[in-house]
Amino acid sequence: MSNGQNGAVVVARDVTRRYGEGDTAVDALRGVTVDIAPGKATALMGPSGSGKSTLMHILAGLDKPTSGSVDIAGTEITTLGDNDLTKLRREHIGFVFQFFNLLPMLTARENILLPLTIAGEKPDDEWFGQLVRDVGLEDRLSHRPSELSGGQQQRVAIARALVSKPTVLFADEPTGNLDSATSAEILELLRRSVEEYGQTIVMVTHDARAAAVAQRVLFLADGSIVRDLGDCDAHTIHSVMEELAAA
Ligand code: ADP
Repeated sequence: MSNGQNGAVVVARDVTRRYGEGDTAVDALRGVTVDIAPGKATALMGPSGSGKSTLMHILAGLDKPTSGSVDIAGTEITTLGDNDLTKLRREHIGFVFQFFNLLPMLTARENILLPLTIAGEKPDDEWFGQLVRDVGLEDRLSHRPSELSGGQQQRVAIARALVSKPTVLFADEPTGNLDSATSAEILELLRRSVEEYGQTIVMVTHDARAAAVAQRVLFLADGSIVRDLGDCDAHTIHSVMEELAAA
């Protein structure tokens, strides 16, 4: 893995993002500077409209900043063309979404292997076997998404995101569509991927319990990072959320 200066896997400097132009322009990000350290989970929190999704999309190379720079795994993305950006994402980025985004006509096995299939790569059988065991899907591989529970579908999505050993796993409200017991299982899985595989995770969430799994919690308000906390419990995160909502 090639990292930027200071060992960070994603580096954003003075990032702004403006949507639209003139009177109707919206400044979704107003100068964000952040380094994402490897082997840790970072949670992005903040009220609706604060810029979390915009920042995540930019850090993941799905969108480019209006100004500022973003370096993903040692490559500055602002000057990359679309093909190179797609290639960089394929090599370095995995995604997990709130609504799983599995392909309904494919089995769990085919969904998990899809990123490799698209890239024309062969799976590493040992890694695939370990991943499937770790996410607890060994006896569900031939099922289609409609035959799986929400939690099982999210496990498939997590395995799909991890199968190519991405530099960073981005998760967008990964527990937002799950009940609390299932959310706890999915969070435990994400926590273990950090601990056991050294996976780097960036997760957007509204849920203090989800953010508590992270080793770092960034709070956005009105397009800026307003708080940057280390490892903390759900209670502390909740208090900061309330404090910021009242500000
Ligand atoms: P969050 O994820 O914290 O809810 P977003 O990043 O989605 O925040 O949005 C930040 C701001 O940018 C909001 O004011 C939102 O309305 C605006 N915004 C987001 N996407 C677009 C878009 N495609 N076009 C115009 N405005 C947008």
